[in-house]
Amino acid sequence: MAETYMHVAKHTFLAALKCRTMGWHARHNTQLQEATLAEIVRSEQGQAVHEYARSQYRSGVLVDENNTVKALKMTAELMGDPNCEVIFEACFRHGKCVARADILIRVNGNWVVEEVKSSKRLKLDLKEDVSYTVMVMKGFGVGIEAVNLSLVNESYRSGEDIDELLKPVDVTDEVLDIADKFEQVRDAVENDVLSESCIVGEWKYACYKCDYFSQHCVGRSVDHPIFQIPRLGEKKFNILLGLGITHVEAVPEDFELTDRQRGVVEVVKSGEMQVRSGLKNALDRWSKPIHYLDFETVSTCMPVYSGLAPYTQIPTQYSLHVRNGKGGLDHLEYLADGLSDCRREFIETLLGDVGSKGSIVVYSHFENTTLTNTEKWFPDLKDDIECVKNRLVDMEKLISKFVYHPKFNGRTSIKVVLPVLVPEMDYSELEISNGDDALAMFYRITMGQLHPDSVESTKVALMEYCKLDTLAMVRIHDVLTELA
Ligand code: SF4
Repeated sequence: MAETYMHVAKHTFLAALKCRTMGWHARHNTQLQEATLAEIVRSEQGQAVHEYARSQYRSGVLVDENNTVKALKMTAELMGDPNCEVIFEACFRHGKCVARADILIRVNGNWVVEEVKSSKRLKLDLKEDVSYTVMVMKGFGVGIEAVNLSLVNESYRSGEDIDELLKPVDVTDEVLDIADKFEQVRDAVENDVLSESCIVGEWKYACYKCDYFSQHCVGRSVDHPIFQIPRLGEKKFNILLGLGITHVEAVPEDFELTDRQRGVVEVVKSGEMQVRSGLKNALDRWSKPIHYLDFETVSTCMPVYSGLAPYTQIPTQYSLHVRNGKGGLDHLEYLADGLSDCRREFIETLLGDVGSKGSIVVYSHFENTTLTNTEKWFPDLKDDIECVKNRLVDMEKLISKFVYHPKFNGRTSIKVVLPVLVPEMDYSELEISNGDDALAMFYRITMGQLHPDSVESTKVALMEYCKLDTLAMVRIHDVLTELA
């Protein structure tokens, strides 16, 4: 049986730098929700980018050992072999920390570290990510020649030479500096995250985006943490924390807040919905026939159609409900077949379906942004698309301005607002129940990753999901009219 020992991995170490409790949970595999379909697809895309990166080095040798001890041994053998120029997934240990380097290239008797990221922009967290690997390598005694982050090249266009997909950025100096700083706290981090008992969490701004907050840490049993106050920046958060306030109910009357923040605090304290004056006038400005429109898009690192930049948001689907003036609703929809570039067909069908009159209700600015992108692809349709954009009205903006409800928890997304205002409707019965999963399923269709027998039923599920989004807007509009 292979030798094993307690070790600290990269994600644990980096989590512990934000918060030791977070690092402890990461090390002890505290149960989080299962990965969503969208997260699985994103991870597959990341894997594909890594494979492309490796394919650039035909002589590279992969350390294909999951067991750390065996991987360390194999890495040492490869590094000791002067004929081995490039190693993939080399494994190192320093203290209790273990790291794997995406690509190592032997240069001048030292090693160039190349870390591959399916991101377009150079961000601090990417530098910290590779700094951890470099800290471990240096501690292990490896000579570092240079450190590069291989990022997705924004100038790349799908269908072009795949060699252009990644662009290396030299981050040597900065990463060596960060690695030295990491080394200074390494011992302390190792001790904390490997301790048997969980480190008790303390409120801090990082809790806001922490996966452990509501189920495993300080947010447990807190119905209204102050993070529910919209756009509560770190400065105000720290002032409240300094006053010992972590719950919305305890925020003082005279604490300086914006109008919207104050509204959220007031409804939580009173437990009553608040409808601000002006809602009726705002609704009356919507012109008939009223349309309700929702788009779905697909955006992937390697775009599914040629000629497009990485992560281009491609519209693939819409649902459109229209009040027909006889007290009923008409429903129109579009779903790309997934076999060919659908952008022109999408926009031409939409332009026909929305006609030339009446407000078009959307939920968020997403449809507006997507139409602006579409104008750039088809300048000949710019005037027609502009007319559609001029008719858009954003229901979410209206709700965030005029309607406050304690059960909104400071948010206004349709998934939060619908079950509160229209309790008989929700997304729980649907096979596809959120936009991220819709994107992932369309991607699976396009890439031929679904069994042929399930393609049609998946398309039906996609259409049902999008249809419910616009039907939800219709019902919310009815409730808003009653409230007004
Ligand atoms: S909720 Fe806060 S204290 Fe708890 S693990 Fe997360 S960041 Fe740390």
